Amino acid sequence: MATLSPVLKQATGVIAARGEGALIFDEDDRRYLDFTAGIGVTSTGHAHPKVVAAAQEQVGKIIHAQYTTVMHRPLLTLTERLGEVLPAGLNRVFFANSGSEAVEASLRLVRQATGRPNIVVFHGGFHGRTVAAASLTTSGTKFRSGFSPLMAGVAISPFPDPTHFGWSQQEATKFALAQLDYTLQTVSAPADTAAFLVEPVLGEGGYVPANAEFLAGLRERADKHGILLILDEVQTGFGRTGKFWGHDHFDGKPDVVITAKGLASGFPLSGIAASEELMAKAWPGSQGGTYGANAVACAAAIATLDVIQEERLVENAAARGEQLRAGLEKVAAGDDRITDVRGLGLMLGNEFRDADGNPDGAAAAAAQQEAARRGLLLLTCGAWGQVVRFIPALVVDEEQVEEAVGVWQETVAAV
Ligand code: PMP
Repeated sequence: MATLSPVLKQATGVIAARGEGALIFDEDDRRYLDFTAGIGVTSTGHAHPKVVAAAQEQVGKIIHAQYTTVMHRPLLTLTERLGEVLPAGLNRVFFANSGSEAVEASLRLVRQATGRPNIVVFHGGFHGRTVAAASLTTSGTKFRSGFSPLMAGVAISPFPDPTHFGWSQQEATKFALAQLDYTLQTVSAPADTAAFLVEPVLGEGGYVPANAEFLAGLRERADKHGILLILDEVQTGFGRTGKFWGHDHFDGKPDVVITAKGLASGFPLSGIAASEELMAKAWPGSQGGTYGANAVACAAAIATLDVIQEERLVENAAARGEQLRAGLEKVAAGDDRITDVRGLGLMLGNEFRDADGNPDGAAAAAAQQEAARRGLLLLTCGAWGQVVRFIPALVVDEEQVEEAVGVWQETVAAV
């Protein structure tokens, strides 16, 4: 008999037998409110009938039509349909399987296009676990430790994070942009810098939104120096934040956008999009893979887009997000340990701090575990694991949000 490697950390002991919308049922048919959505993946909820039907139909036609050998219709249709939602001008798409692979695809593209070696990333960003993606990740040493050397050519500059030092967002942004200029002057010369890579909302780093002034500052410096701006929308895209893309909140103007997670409702599918002009600079054949743009995953992604549009899930994420935020803020007001409720749409975090004001990962973990015992599945994030995050499926309804807030209230009272 084999058993799982202990390298895999488990947030809950739940064995999921089936799912339905924002709910998971375990093998004893116990019902859980799933406010993790597979780390923000199951955008249309578990087992949405339209997604299931599309995938089932495709399974019976062809599962693996390898995309560097032959084309398949779901790939072509999905590519066309993405034109409805991609940022203006970014109409050339490349597909892979996971967020990390898509991050690496963007890295290859910007290096090939500019002939420059370096990427500037923003402190607290998470971009994946493959070694190159981990090299770009600065949200926790656990993602980087023990398998060095990491990839060279990465400079780290501050993210505008007002949760440090009790700064206002304005102060944090002024600092981050000044430090970026300093980074370009002292660490990575513009002539060596291929791209800035940033999340519109720090995800694994603690659910800290960027802002319009910061993204405009990146755009300005990018234009001035011929540097490309990559937005990692793996977690923030596809309606998660109550707008289709996270950067829609900030009028961001990316050269490359990275997507995954919510794109295919749980099937492994990711992609990058850029302009025709930029994509033309990629070296043909330098990207690909055995499994990219799997036909069943593409069929599920087309159905996901349909469902998002037909059921107005972006609007639902905004409305339910407001409801959830109001509920979480009420709970936080009655508990000194929860010092901040933040995020956008259905991507909300609760920061736990101890009596001395230090990040309190132990308190957040205790609350997360207690919530699971009470039937509410949650995850933590943040450098110290000090943030309990709420990321339900975009189909979550008013009663489920109300129920989750009630369980959360009881949970924090109990721990
Ligand atoms: N970028 C961001 C912003 C993410 O949140 C994640 C996953 N949490 C990734 C990249 C990596 O995606 P994957 O786990 O699919 O490789």
